[in-house]
Amino acid sequence: MSNPIEIRKSLLAEHIIKQLRRRQMDACYCPTAAEAVKCITDMIPEGSSVTWGGSMTIRNIGLPEALRKKGGLEVFDRDLAESREEAQDIYRKAFHADYYLSSANALSEDGVIVNIDGTGNRVAAITFGPKKVVFVIGLNKVAQNVDAALARARSTAAPINTARFDIQTPCKVDGVCHNCNSKDCICNFVHFLRNSPQGRHFVVLVGEDLGY
Ligand code: SF4
Repeated sequence: MSNPIEIRKSLLAEHIIKQLRRRQMDACYCPTAAEAVKCITDMIPEGSSVTWGGSMTIRNIGLPEALRKKGGLEVFDRDLAESREEAQDIYRKAFHADYYLSSANALSEDGVIVNIDGTGNRVAAITFGPKKVVFVIGLNKVAQNVDAALARARSTAAPINTARFDIQTPCKVDGVCHNCNSKDCICNFVHFLRNSPQGRHFVVLVGEDLGY
């Protein structure tokens, strides 16, 4: 490997993996999204149930299709729900799933995973319920420390995310977080994953820019 950017990515991933293991999370590094998809589809054994949160990363790298193609899995895909009630039902099924897939809004270099959530279903499932939580995190989401990770989640990821939804928030008007209390606010729950005491969490770091 002679490309300086790839060398730095590999070194950064190695550093973060050590930090995550110190926090009882296992982790691996996949230089490409395609390798990440293979890693995750291979990791989930036949007969498992699997679902995911509202992550663009999971969708953009084609994980839902890859999991369906693998076969032998019980896949709960909220994107295929035909009504709000059905989607809510899938949110609840996440708590009993064998595998819950998620991205993150930011990750500090010392291994703290930061997520913000509007309804709370994602951070709830990360905290408790599914037997395993697998994060897929592009290295573009790494921040130097926890403060910078929180700032990234609130000032970068959240205003971009609001553009996806039919909601009225101040950040949707000017792209800047106003620390709002709007009824449409998507930043109602702020979650820091510091340690994984039961070892439920696995992190797949990816050397491509993924998500926001
Ligand atoms: S303005 Fe409100 S919804 Fe937008 S990023 Fe800030 S807290 Fe979140």
